[in-house]
Amino acid sequence: MKGTTITRVSTLRSALQPNLLWVEIEDADGAVGLGETFSLAETVESYIHEGAADYLLGKDGGDIAGHWTTLFRQRGRSGIGAETRGAAAIDIALWDLLGHRTGLPLWQLLGGRSRERIRVYNTCGGPNYVRAAAVAGRQYTGDFVRDRYDDLWGFMNEPERLAESLLAEGVRHMKIWPLDDISVVNQGLHISAAELRTALAPLARIHKAFEGEMEVALEMHGRWTVPVASKIARAAEPYQPMWIEDPVKLDNLRAIDEVCRATTIPVLVGETQGSRYPYREILERTGVGIIMSDPCWTGGVTELRRIADLAATYQRAFTPHDCTGPIGLAAGAHVALHAETAIFQEFVRAFYHGWYREVSEGLPVIENGWLSAADRPGHGVTIPDEVRKRAEWSTRTSRKGA
Ligand SMILES: [Mg+2]
Repeated sequence: MKGTTITRVSTLRSALQPNLLWVEIEDADGAVGLGETFSLAETVESYIHEGAADYLLGKDGGDIAGHWTTLFRQRGRSGIGAETRGAAAIDIALWDLLGHRTGLPLWQLLGGRSRERIRVYNTCGGPNYVRAAAVAGRQYTGDFVRDRYDDLWGFMNEPERLAESLLAEGVRHMKIWPLDDISVVNQGLHISAAELRTALAPLARIHKAFEGEMEVALEMHGRWTVPVASKIARAAEPYQPMWIEDPVKLDNLRAIDEVCRATTIPVLVGETQGSRYPYREILERTGVGIIMSDPCWTGGVTELRRIADLAATYQRAFTPHDCTGPIGLAAGAHVALHAETAIFQEFVRAFYHGWYREVSEGLPVIENGWLSAADRPGHGVTIPDEVRKRAEWSTRTSRKGA
């Protein structure tokens, strides 16, 4: 059997992180690559074994581009549904496999770096943020604990203390979502002057205390109508957020364009989009200022790089999303080191210093607000043997003829 032939496709899930799914692909030489996706892990696991493994087994693991085309263009669907997320995890695993076969880091396989390190910003979720299983109608704003990295609680209650603790680690950029609770109460249809003042208080307080030292992005999670999102954006302008993120749902490009034109603050969108095609429409038809994408959702390393190139083609900055898992962080970071207009790598310090380290090793190095790649092949992240032996982890494996 040819050495690069795929012989095994396994999936790993953990009761501790029910949204997290890892994919492990092994070739005939015993080289192994790891991929990851996030949300409805058991559903995506079923797709991988029932919809993709039979195709992959026996194929050459090095033909990453061809496998992308088969899984996305022939069997895939638009958006970031289970088939896309599964195929994204497979694509990341195949790039990692190539890294392990060649001994080269992913950034080098992509054609080298545009920068040796990339700035990070901290997404202020706490240790338990998005840990629970995805359930329709559930909000994540209550998932806080009192902890060293209780950043979700921190931005809602003690924003100056939070900003100060980030600055102490050299992190000068952060993202918060103080409007989510009011969007639930008002169904995103209205916000009163008093509610606006209350919701924007964390932004105002950090601006007042740390102007020139800390920059803040305002996440809006697609929860608002156009006029209300525009009203919020204009009210936030005195505090000069780095960007407003997903002010409205991205299912109507004219709507997002109206918000872009209503404010001087750059608008960032993208994490909800699958494949490069909707990004082209966004870039052609709206005033969106910054492009975000998640390797675990949008289509793996292959498509993340294409989306980054598209952003550069339209003179836009690009930033990979991470609020999901250690391999997503690492895969995005390697693309960010490579891509022409990458501006930031997102990270969640509560995860990076917390559960990411409990389940993996070889994370990118983040120091003083900057990220650099670990000196390891592929994306760098591996699973320690003792982690897979733990009772809360389950594994499902497909092999040729099995
Ligand atoms: Mg977001």
